[in-house]
Amino acid sequence: MFRSLHMKLTLILLLLITSLMAVVGAFLTVSVSNFYINSFYQEMSDVFSGENSSFVADLRGAAGDSEDPVGHLAEILEAKAGSLGVDYRTRNYFVLDGETGGYILSSADESALPRQQSANLLTARNAVVQQDETLVGDESDITADFMDVAVPIMGGGNAYIIYILDNKATVSGLNTQLFLIIMQALIIGLLISILLSFLLSKTMVGPIEKLTAGAERVAAGDFDGELPIESTDEIGILTGTFNEMADILQATLAAVENERNKLDTLFLHMTDGVVAFDHKGRLIHCNPAANTMLQQPVYGDCTYDDLFGSVYPFQEILALQRPNHAESELLVGDRTLELYLAPFSGQASGGVLIVLHDVTEQHRNEERRKEFVANVSHELRTPLTNVRSYAETLLDANGDIPQETANSFLDIIITETDRMTHIVQDLLTLSRLDAGDAELVLSRFPFGDAIESVTRANALNAKQRGHALTYTPPESLPLIVGDRSRLEQVMMNVIGNAIKYTPDGGHIRISAGSTEGTVWMDVWDDGIGIPEKDRTHIFDRFYRVDKARSRESGGTGLGLSIALEIVQRHQGRLLLPPHEGPGTTVRLELPVGGPDSRLPAND
Ligand code: ADP
Repeated sequence: MFRSLHMKLTLILLLLITSLMAVVGAFLTVSVSNFYINSFYQEMSDVFSGENSSFVADLRGAAGDSEDPVGHLAEILEAKAGSLGVDYRTRNYFVLDGETGGYILSSADESALPRQQSANLLTARNAVVQQDETLVGDESDITADFMDVAVPIMGGGNAYIIYILDNKATVSGLNTQLFLIIMQALIIGLLISILLSFLLSKTMVGPIEKLTAGAERVAAGDFDGELPIESTDEIGILTGTFNEMADILQATLAAVENERNKLDTLFLHMTDGVVAFDHKGRLIHCNPAANTMLQQPVYGDCTYDDLFGSVYPFQEILALQRPNHAESELLVGDRTLELYLAPFSGQASGGVLIVLHDVTEQHRNEERRKEFVANVSHELRTPLTNVRSYAETLLDANGDIPQETANSFLDIIITETDRMTHIVQDLLTLSRLDAGDAELVLSRFPFGDAIESVTRANALNAKQRGHALTYTPPESLPLIVGDRSRLEQVMMNVIGNAIKYTPDGGHIRISAGSTEGTVWMDVWDDGIGIPEKDRTHIFDRFYRVDKARSRESGGTGLGLSIALEIVQRHQGRLLLPPHEGPGTTVRLELPVGGPDSRLPAND
């Protein structure tokens, strides 16, 4: 209850008024008492000494009166009652016996005398004993509940004490009055302070409460609507500053949100995986690419140790100084992931960010490149060694060798040289196709004509091997768009392989057809066939099922690779469909419309 500003204000005002009234009251009361006491003693001093010293002389004279000294004294005192301030109620005069201080006469009755003789009275009695008229009892005592003056009067052997006594009833009455006035003022002051506190709370606490409500609204993320500035005082300035702060906060939050959206979009669509952990190793973020790469759904309760604990210790990454980072590799299934691990922000609020990069293809390509170079070197070294050894033999013989043998040696040298030329030509074609330099020369031509022309070109070769090479053309074949000479090169290779890899006297059947938008050509043979394990590799560069047989028949292992490249450039397919019995079937599929009308990629 006392926490509210309103109650605090009320309390402060009440305390202020009360303490102010208490101080003022005390001050007034003491001042009034002092004034009254001072004026009493001043009055007495004026009457009994100084200018009015004749009054004392008269009293002494009256005391020496032989007939009625007391009556005489009473007369003089009565005459001076006005100057003495005697009002017969609060202030009275007394004529007392000089030696005993006993009551003789007064303006009131005897009961008005205090029972205990005062210090002043004792002083006066002492003066009588010492016969010293200068000793007057006029000491003030602020604590006493009366004021008195005792004046010794001696004359004609008589001794009296004129005793003026004021019972302070006036000052008490005044103080009571004063107290009542102060109490009334206090009550009015308290009422005013309560009223004031209400007014103050309306003018001060009201705007503060509005400001508080506004701050709570902003804290809850609602930036709509500014707080109205209702005054030009400090609260008005505070409200203005608060509005500015809310605007800046809104702009900053919008900028942060914008940045976050950008980052989210980036993370969502980037091909590299990104995974973030907080400083305790708990997952904060994982983009879809990372999910795919890790080959498991990464949930919110995953920790660093679950996913990458085996790769790199978490604390070591946290301890890294930015912009340093750690690198590592992680094998997931058949994929190789390269990891870049780096800390972000400070240790307390930051964590660890991991970027995953799938380098499987890169590694495979690197492997293929190495294998390719090794294959090329090997393929060229064999004929080169042959050429060199036959040439050396001829040289060493120095003509001392039968002409027939020399000729056969020279034949071998020429064959090996042709082989090398063949390999180099094939490599050149492949490299051109790889680099995209070999532009296709597109034209529209009858697909059937191309098959027939290639079949004719192979007829002699097939005949020499005793093969039955047949082509059964369909009723109609459409015109297709493509690079005729390169496509004929593909057909040459496929039909040539069928002839090469079929033992003499075999059968090679060529068939063709078309479906909607596609033409196909099948080359079927009943030759040695391709073992199941090799079927996926025969399109690889330098891949040969039987190296010796291939080399024997002049094969380089590059023919089908080149054929596949050409077919793929036409967005067609070269594949091995299922084959019944011994032998092989190779199928060529091409889009009728040429490279722009797509077919699904080669498997
Ligand atoms: P090559 O110059 O050795 O013939 P290719 O790339 O044309 O090279 O063929 C690759 C390999 O595929 C051949 O070495 C051969 O082992 C196999 N092959 C291709 N066609 C046939 C087929 N019709 N019958 C059996 N094996 C084949």
